[in-house]
Amino acid sequence: MSDQQPDEQQRDERSREEGSRRERSELASERSERPVASEPPKRSEGAREPTGAAIRVSQPPDARELPRFAGPGTFARLPRLDEVERAAVAVLGVPFDAGTTYRPGARFGPEAIRAGSKLLRPYHLGLEIEPWAALQVADAGDVSANPFDIVEAVGQIQTAATALYDKADRIVTLGGDHTVALPLLRAAHARHGPVALVHFDAHLDTWDTYFGASYTHGTPFRRASEEGLLDRTGCLHAGIRGPLYADSDLAEDTDLGFQVISAPDVEQLGVAGMVERIQQRVGDRPVYVSVDIDVLDPAHAPGTGTPEAGGLSSRELLAALRSFSRLNLIGADIVEVAPAYDHAQITGIAAAHAGYELLSALAARKAAP
Ligand code: MN
Ligand code: MN
Repeated sequence: MSDQQPDEQQRDERSREEGSRRERSELASERSERPVASEPPKRSEGAREPTGAAIRVSQPPDARELPRFAGPGTFARLPRLDEVERAAVAVLGVPFDAGTTYRPGARFGPEAIRAGSKLLRPYHLGLEIEPWAALQVADAGDVSANPFDIVEAVGQIQTAATALYDKADRIVTLGGDHTVALPLLRAAHARHGPVALVHFDAHLDTWDTYFGASYTHGTPFRRASEEGLLDRTGCLHAGIRGPLYADSDLAEDTDLGFQVISAPDVEQLGVAGMVERIQQRVGDRPVYVSVDIDVLDPAHAPGTGTPEAGGLSSRELLAALRSFSRLNLIGADIVEVAPAYDHAQITGIAAAHAGYELLSALAARKAAP
């Protein structure tokens, strides 16, 4: 019961209405202002938290006001991590390719994926979610990894990822060659314990050594399994194809805890069948997803270091990644984008969309009741 007189109540209501009208018109005039080069781009602010608690989320600038080819060079033009207090998800660049065995160039992967991400729009059609509004996502910039010393670089990446968990709950990494998955898995293991792993790749990446070196882009998952970072009951590769060194490669891979969905299997099963097998294998375990862009056919991703014919289409990969909204996704990487071999940003755009699917899956999982 209010002890105010009726006319006082009306006055209060009128002034509240005027206030909110003024706020609305101030917002409208702010929106119509054109950003100029000397001003930082305006970010839209959302207050959306599915659980009901109000949070302020800093989002990318509206592309109807600031052209996509202008503005920040961050992933999807999201804010930098140092512009927000903390993030639910940090996007981390790891420009490193000293672990490659064939074509080098994945050190330029993070900038190519960020460039390919400029066209991403805020609403995800399939998952019916606005990932940038549902979660605070921010770009944490690049790790400085020694290009001359792989062992030191692996340590630097692990240290950077571990420190990043103080400011972000989840990390989605842009590589870099596949060597970087090992230190990222070490950091994820320190936080979550042994994780299930879904690995999209043309290659097993469970070989032992190259030229006596243990840390290369062909060996990260053998090391991860040996180190106890993986839950061996929840690991699988998808998209495997091309010749191996010997049939013992597969036997050793099985011993390390992996199942295989080959590229021809994907054709037989279809995307729905692949997704079902992934979900059966992973269950509700914490799962890390590692996407080597060479899982795609060279027609869909020419810009990569060790291309193999007969791969997945980008449509198949994106649909599989979308399904992770139903799993307990704790981290991900997208690696092996080497833009020097790319044409018309085909690979950079495919990788950017893979990132969008993973970030949207994280947002959708959070939004689920
Ligand atoms: Mn590969
Ligand atoms: Mn790989």
